Amino acid sequence: MEVFLENIIIYTLVAVIIIGIFYLYLKTHKYESKQTLEKIKRAKEYGFHEPVSLHPVINEDICIGSGACVVACPENDIIGLVNGKGKLINASHCVGHGACFHACPVEAITLVMGTEKRGVELPHVSPEYETNVRGIYIAGELGGMGLIKNAIEQGKKAVDSMVQSIEKKHSSKYDIIIIGAGPAGIAATLRAAEHNLNFLTIEQDSIGGTVFSFPRAKVVMTSPVEIPLFGKVKLYETTKSELIDLWSEILAKNKISINENEKVSEIIKYDNSFKVITNQEEYTTQKVLLAIGRRGSPRKLGVPGENSEKVYYKLLEPELIHNKKILVVGGGDSAIESALLLAEEGNEVSLSYRSNSFKRLKPKNFKRIEDAIKLKLVNVLYNSTVKEITHDKVILNFQNGTIAEIENDLVYVFIGGELPNKFLEKIGIKITKKFGEAVLKH
Ligand SMILES: Cc1cc2nc3c(=O)[nH]c(=O)nc-3n(C[C@H](O)[C@H](O)[C@H](O)COP(=O)(O)OP(=O)(O)OC[C@H]3O[C@@H](n4cnc5c(N)ncnc54)[C@H](O)[C@@H]3O)c2cc1C
Repeated sequence: MEVFLENIIIYTLVAVIIIGIFYLYLKTHKYESKQTLEKIKRAKEYGFHEPVSLHPVINEDICIGSGACVVACPENDIIGLVNGKGKLINASHCVGHGACFHACPVEAITLVMGTEKRGVELPHVSPEYETNVRGIYIAGELGGMGLIKNAIEQGKKAVDSMVQSIEKKHSSKYDIIIIGAGPAGIAATLRAAEHNLNFLTIEQDSIGGTVFSFPRAKVVMTSPVEIPLFGKVKLYETTKSELIDLWSEILAKNKISINENEKVSEIIKYDNSFKVITNQEEYTTQKVLLAIGRRGSPRKLGVPGENSEKVYYKLLEPELIHNKKILVVGGGDSAIESALLLAEEGNEVSLSYRSNSFKRLKPKNFKRIEDAIKLKLVNVLYNSTVKEITHDKVILNFQNGTIAEIENDLVYVFIGGELPNKFLEKIGIKITKKFGEAVLKH
C-alpha cells in the first residue's frame, strides 16, 4: 500500500513538472509570438517589412521553429518566431549574407532575389561570368549574390574563365583590368597574379569594398574559403579590420598594389579591346572584370567647396574625432547614426535635412534622434540644403528663403548613392528584372 502511495506521489509530481514545463514553454512561445507580431506591425508602418533585394523565404511546412535562423542573423529582427514558425520582420534590412540559410537545421530557408511585386534589376551574366558585351565579365554582388565567400569564389572563377580567351599577343597595355577592390576584386587580383597576368586593379575608395564600410565590427563567414596566394582560411567569425588586414598583408607580401581613390567612369570597346577611362587616366586592356558590387558610388551634393578635404561620405573612426564643429547632411539611417556617434564623442553636431521630418528611419534611430534633439546633442536643421562649403563655414539655404552661415570644421554627406545600373547600361550590358528567383536553395 505504502509503495503504491509513493508511486502515485512520484507520478503526480512528474506529471506536474511536465505540465509546468509545457505551460512555461507555451507561455514563452506566446510571449515570443506577441513580440514578433508587434515588430512586424511596426516594420509595416515604417515600410521595412517588404524585401528590397536578397531575402530569406521560409517554408512553413518544413520550419520546426528552432530559432536557429534568428540567432544566426547578426542584423537583428530580420526574422522572428510566430507560433513556432519563422516569419520575416524587417525584410528590407536583409544584407543577404545567408547566415540564416546555413543555420536552419531542416533546410526550410531559401535565399531569394526580389519579390513577385518588386523586381530586382540584375545584369545578364553567363555561367563563365561573361556579360553580353564580349570581353567584359562580372563577379561578386553585382551579379546578384551577396556574400563575402561567394564574391571571393566568383572573383577567382571569373579570372580563370577570362584567362582562356586572352590573346597571346595583343597591343593593349593590360591583359585584365579589375574594377573594384571588395572581396570579389581582391580575390580576382590575387588570382590574376597567380596566373602571371599583366593586370591592374582600380578602386574608387580604399580596399575592402562594402566590408570596409560595415557599421559593425563583426563579420560572418559561414564556411571556409580558399584565398589565392594564401590558402584556406576558416574565419567563421572575424572582424572587418582583421579581414582587411589579412587582405592587405597578402597583397603586400606578393608586392601587388591597387590603384585606390581612382574611379572608373567609362569603358569603351574598340576592336578586340577596351579603353577604361577613370577620373585620372585612360588605360587599354584586353578584358575587363567588373567587381563593383551593388552599392554604387556615394551621391554628391554638387555645391562649391565640396571637393575640399574636410568633406567625407563615410564615417570611419568617430572615436578619433573630438571637439569639432560638424555638419552631417542627410535624413536616412546612415546620417542619423553618424550624427549620433559624432555627438557622443563631444563634437558640436548639426544635421541638415531637406524635409520637415524624418521618414523611413529604423524605429531605434527615430527614438534616438528624438532623444538627442531634446537633450540638444544634435541640432537638426530641417528644410535645409547646403549651398556652399568654405574652409571654416557652411552656407545653408532654407525652404522659407532664408540663408544661414554656420561655423564648420568637417562635413559628412549621406544622401544615398548612384546605383551601378546606369554605368552598366552605358557600357551596353543588358539588365533584366528578377521577380523572386531563388539564389541559394538546398
Ligand atoms: C551592413 C552589411 C553587412 C554585411 N555583413 C556580411 C557578413 O557578415 N558576411 C558576409 O559574408 N557578407 C556580408 N555582407 C555582404 C558583403 O559585404 C557583400 O556581399 C560583399 O562585400 C560583396 O563583395 P563585392 O566585391 O562583390 O562588392 P563590394 O564589397 O561592394 O565591393 C565593390 C567595390 O567596388 C568599388 N567600386 C564601385 N564602383 C566603382 C567604380 N566606378 N570605379 C572603381 N571602383 C568602384 C567600390 O568602392 C567597392 O569597394 C554585408 C553587407 C552589408 C551592407
